[in-house]
Amino acid sequence: MIETKEFKTETKKLLDMMIHSIYTHKEIFLRELISNASDAIDKRKFLSLTDHSIPSVDYEILVEADKTNRTITITDNGIGMTKAELEENLGTIAKSGSKEFLEKLGDAANTSDIIGQFGVGFYSAFMVANKVEVLSHKVNSDETYLFSSDGLENYTISSSEELIDGTKITLYLREDSEEEKYSDFLDEYTIKDLIRKYSDYIRYPIKTWVTKYDKPEEGKEDQDSTHLELETINSMIPLWKKNRKDVTDEELNNFYKQKFMDYQDPLTAIFVSVEGMLTYNALLFIPRKPLFNVYNDKDERGLQLYTKGVFILDKCKDLIPEYLYFVKGLVDSADLPLNISRELLQEDRQIKKIASNVEKKILQELTKLLKNEPEKYLEFFKAYGRALKYGLYENYGARKESLQDLVILHSLNNDKYITFKEYKEKMPEGQKNIYYVAQKTKEQALALPQMALLKQKGYDVLLLEDDVDEFMLQVMHDYDKVEFKSITQGDLDLLTEEENKKIDEVKEENKELLEAIKESLKDEVSDVILSKRLVDGAVCISAKGGISLEMEKVLSAQDGNAKAEKVLEINPNHPLFNKLKDIYQNDKDKLNDYSKFLLDSALIQEGLEIKDPVNYTNKVIELMLK
Ligand code: ADP
Repeated sequence: MIETKEFKTETKKLLDMMIHSIYTHKEIFLRELISNASDAIDKRKFLSLTDHSIPSVDYEILVEADKTNRTITITDNGIGMTKAELEENLGTIAKSGSKEFLEKLGDAANTSDIIGQFGVGFYSAFMVANKVEVLSHKVNSDETYLFSSDGLENYTISSSEELIDGTKITLYLREDSEEEKYSDFLDEYTIKDLIRKYSDYIRYPIKTWVTKYDKPEEGKEDQDSTHLELETINSMIPLWKKNRKDVTDEELNNFYKQKFMDYQDPLTAIFVSVEGMLTYNALLFIPRKPLFNVYNDKDERGLQLYTKGVFILDKCKDLIPEYLYFVKGLVDSADLPLNISRELLQEDRQIKKIASNVEKKILQELTKLLKNEPEKYLEFFKAYGRALKYGLYENYGARKESLQDLVILHSLNNDKYITFKEYKEKMPEGQKNIYYVAQKTKEQALALPQMALLKQKGYDVLLLEDDVDEFMLQVMHDYDKVEFKSITQGDLDLLTEEENKKIDEVKEENKELLEAIKESLKDEVSDVILSKRLVDGAVCISAKGGISLEMEKVLSAQDGNAKAEKVLEINPNHPLFNKLKDIYQNDKDKLNDYSKFLLDSALIQEGLEIKDPVNYTNKVIELMLK
């Protein structure tokens, strides 16, 4: 009995794209079908390790061309599909890579370009064929089924008497046209080339019929005689077992894109090969852009795990620390049992060792990148800098030593990003701290009155543009024993002993004035002091305690209760200070008004909210009218 079923709408959409894809990309169909065949063999091999009723065979993938009938068949002796699986896997795009492909398409500019680079799976068959048949026998089942479709509206499924152990896919090639010569794919040399180009590392033999020239018989030297032989075309060495120098960039990039569903080449690839007490290989990639989206978020992190070349588990979180969630790749170990489970993995000492080594290798690679290819590192840091900062921040800075030299920041005296090390090296003599300011732009930072004294001294100031930066510095506390100091927080340690003494004297003389101002502002500030950081500015706000002014802004978005302990600082050398003294002597009520006005001005200057903007505006206008 033949059952006819209709494709779902999204499947039709994808099929339509396959049919209309541009010719130059079509050759990837073979790679996709071979990769499916290899996965199917992986699955059978894995099952047979624990289930002895599954016969073990010589696994292979066969690619055959039939010029007369214009067909290409790809046959594997893998796990096969039941009738339900044929429907579910090929009739819908519920779970396959194709689904992810469709999602990715959403934000890509040039769709036709991506098809060529991205694995689209089984449906790519319709790029070259106007009819596709899949004959499949699920291992240990009694029945064989035939799926058949022209890739338009419908597909059919019927049971079949044909004998097969695994899956055979037959492609009926499209008609040739002026520009599109589908018959080229029937050519022995084309097939060999495509297998070598895209599928060399596949770990099972990919065989095809190859023409062999016979030794001419005596007396018949002028007559060429040939016969066909089945030959294995691929080298079968997994890419990750090879030396980096024996792998071309193209091979590497293709491998990455196909395996990890990206349409861009990776930013960098890392080969790891360790022999000794623990023997394993790892191949790791840093994607150009994070590979997760709504469907594929942080929880998707983790590396693939292979044991002796057999695929065991996907997305093993235990192989990589959380902050490196963006790294894609695989680990192939020679020492782990094949039946290891996720639960066992967590406790496994070898896995822990591998994980810590993998982390180390990634950081080494990043260090090299920063040193040798700063442009590329910048691209990396823009995409993943936050992840490194998070790594520094979590666990109370436990990773400080290994991560601190990978952070780059803008500073006010440099156009380029700099490291803490570079900052420290350029510190003028006498500078005791590493200064920073949390502002969104250089201009904003430079305009702050607190900056004047630092500028005068020629001290550079790190610009913290990212919300998490200040939290990170707080956890780090210092770099190489030089403490971090916010220019808006605490004592900046900038004045000479003499200068300090002088201000302390003025403070003593004006104790009552300062107390009076503090009293009028007691609900809003925790202290009023004479500033040791201002040059030209009349007033500024600083913070004492753990929460800085900028942190308050960040935290207030999450938790309105986190407040900085604010201090109003008044410049004792500014004419305004004399004016305040004057008012205090003659008009105590006015001082109350002036205090509030000063505080509001200082808050505004810092980009902070003021309590009563209407009152503030009225006061300004009143003053203007005087
Ligand atoms: P993907 O391989 O990304 O999952 P495909 O559309 O290529 O997406 O394939 C869909 C599913 O069909 C596969 O996940 C697999 O379960 C099944 N499949 C495809 N080809 C074969 C095959 N040769 N043998 C067994 N199962 C297959």
